[in-house]
Amino acid sequence: MDIVFHWLLLTVAVAVGWFVGRLGGGRRRSGKKIADEDSVKDRLQFLFTNYSDQAVDNFVQSLAVNTDTVSLHLSIGRHFRNKGETDRAILVHQNLLARPELPPRFSPQVTLELAMDFLNAGLLDRAEALLQELMGDKEYGRKAAQQLIELYQQESEWGKAADVARALTKNDADPGMFKDLAYLTCELAEKTLALDDRWAAQKLAKEALGYDRSCVRATLILMKILVRQGSFRDAGNQGLKVFDQNPDFGPEAIDRLMKLEHEHGDIGRLVKKLRKLYETYPSTSLLLALVESVERVSGRPVAIDLLRRELEIRPSMRGLLRLVEMAGYEKGVTTDEGRLVSRIGLMILANRPVYRCVSCGFSGQQLHWLCPSCKQWETVRPIQGVEAE
Ligand SMILES: [Zn+2]
Repeated sequence: MDIVFHWLLLTVAVAVGWFVGRLGGGRRRSGKKIADEDSVKDRLQFLFTNYSDQAVDNFVQSLAVNTDTVSLHLSIGRHFRNKGETDRAILVHQNLLARPELPPRFSPQVTLELAMDFLNAGLLDRAEALLQELMGDKEYGRKAAQQLIELYQQESEWGKAADVARALTKNDADPGMFKDLAYLTCELAEKTLALDDRWAAQKLAKEALGYDRSCVRATLILMKILVRQGSFRDAGNQGLKVFDQNPDFGPEAIDRLMKLEHEHGDIGRLVKKLRKLYETYPSTSLLLALVESVERVSGRPVAIDLLRRELEIRPSMRGLLRLVEMAGYEKGVTTDEGRLVSRIGLMILANRPVYRCVSCGFSGQQLHWLCPSCKQWETVRPIQGVEAE
């Protein structure tokens, strides 16, 4: 055994000894727990950066497996996984599971770590099998189920994901899980609607609202079904519900409502509704819709007055561009300055994201019901502010 490896073992022995000491005194020094864990991570990091992977592998093989060292094995496995070296992480965790000395109570935790390695390596079948095995576990069953839902979502297996989510909602009342279940059911409803099975789609959308009555997407699906059935008034009423469910999504409903009223509606009734909605949930989309309908009922000068007044209170780039355009039409001339403002304004807006995830900050110009970055439902919303809503 070379000198470097001796040094390595010595360093780790100190780390392990200290780590074990921490476990023994954990109750007395619980206030320091987080700092202690950070310190263990630092020591491991020192190990990983100063010694070759082969030396670390040899060390893992030679390190005893017992109650006191399992955490160290797991930290090393996790380190490899985080570094993207999933093959090594898999070896560490498989090695642990194969060792007869592994205390049985640690087996579910190690199995979960191994499943995460498989997930990271893209070995989804193997991850799925392990996660299903863990589903009934008291301590790790919930975490396994959440990972399983994520895996099925990745595969667009909405039905299977919904089954797991449903099983979870039976045991606890976490509102987040009911939201997930509602959105998974909406995916099934959309799939059914694509096959033009309106009856089944409607049943699924209502089921989604049963899980979470604030599920905006279910309401928009019901609206779409009613439009297809020719029930335009009911569709309009359905669209209005979005404002009560989550006013952040109002702009999504307003585009659909405007199209509906243009084609089938009664404009007088629309102006009244939009005015009331705008008072309660002011947004640029709503203001522009209101201005458009006021223009149709009372003429352009009244609409321009309204827009100018509201922009003083609640400035917005889209509103300003609309005002420049309307004022130009009204005067029968579009000035060079007006044209320039419009052109530059449109250029600014063209490169701006329209939606942003309230949870992770992911942004883009397209609405994703499931955030592509943090994988949460309904967190990607229309952006508020001068350059947006
Ligand atoms: Zn996100």
